Amino acid sequence: WADWLAEAKAQVPGVFVGMTTAGHEKMEIEAGGPRALVDGYQRVADMGLGCEGHYGEGAGVEHMMKAMKLLPKGTRFAHGIQVIESEDAIEQVRALGKPLIMAPYINISLGGVIHYKDGKPHHKLQLNPETGQLILDESTGKPLREDRIVNNYIDTLEEHPIWTLMRDYHLPIGLMSDDPQQGGIDYKDQVKLLAGVGKRRNSVAPIDASIMLPLTAEELTVCNLNALEVAFCEPEVKMELVGKIAAWAKEHHIQVEHPLLAEYAQQKKWGHWVRDDPQDGHDGWSAGRG
Ligand SMILES: [Zn+2]
Repeated sequence: WADWLAEAKAQVPGVFVGMTTAGHEKMEIEAGGPRALVDGYQRVADMGLGCEGHYGEGAGVEHMMKAMKLLPKGTRFAHGIQVIESEDAIEQVRALGKPLIMAPYINISLGGVIHYKDGKPHHKLQLNPETGQLILDESTGKPLREDRIVNNYIDTLEEHPIWTLMRDYHLPIGLMSDDPQQGGIDYKDQVKLLAGVGKRRNSVAPIDASIMLPLTAEELTVCNLNALEVAFCEPEVKMELVGKIAAWAKEHHIQVEHPLLAEYAQQKKWGHWVRDDPQDGHDGWSAGRG
């Protein structure tokens, strides 16, 4: 697929901005796991395209931890609901320095699972407490499972890990629709469900405000800015969209802090974005006075 992308890019520059790997995690593990993808990811990253991996939905957090360790720096990670199974995984996401992009609706519609032990989220495989490596069975070579692991399928938005990860662990999180044709939902409709408005979509009901605080306007604004931070688009497009979010927030008296807002304010101070003189020898746009 890296060859194919290189060919497409050579024939129609700009036709793709990045690539995503997604699908059944167990099948990916059987096909060699993240290690088998590293080379392709690196080649795509070297072409200047964005890379995104969908992990941590079904196979257990160990799979995502491996992907975070092996895939090229700069890779954007999506889902990651199972990082709730391991404090180490949460710290690994934090150390990436990039927002995690989540799609709570599709996790319910496609059967996202969290592993539990003694009533709390817990990774399902035994890990060496010092190295974090999987502990393998000496005779079979297969990873040893923890005892008393229970699969807990996420049935409601209230029990989705996004809330704990965002509100208690303060992980930077963005939202995505994932694929609306394959169990996903339109971006805006998902936001409505999270905000506790609108009607039930298939089996997914809006957040019940008598159970928990629905997504606030401030949280939505930060999620949108986080998503934009890792969006595969040109800087000037990004800043234009930040401007729209900033205007919306101002109109509705929503006050949040975000590095992109600070950057936007700085650029506004120095003038608006102006297209470079095509004769001046370098492409694109620059922030100029005007
Ligand atoms: Zn996905």
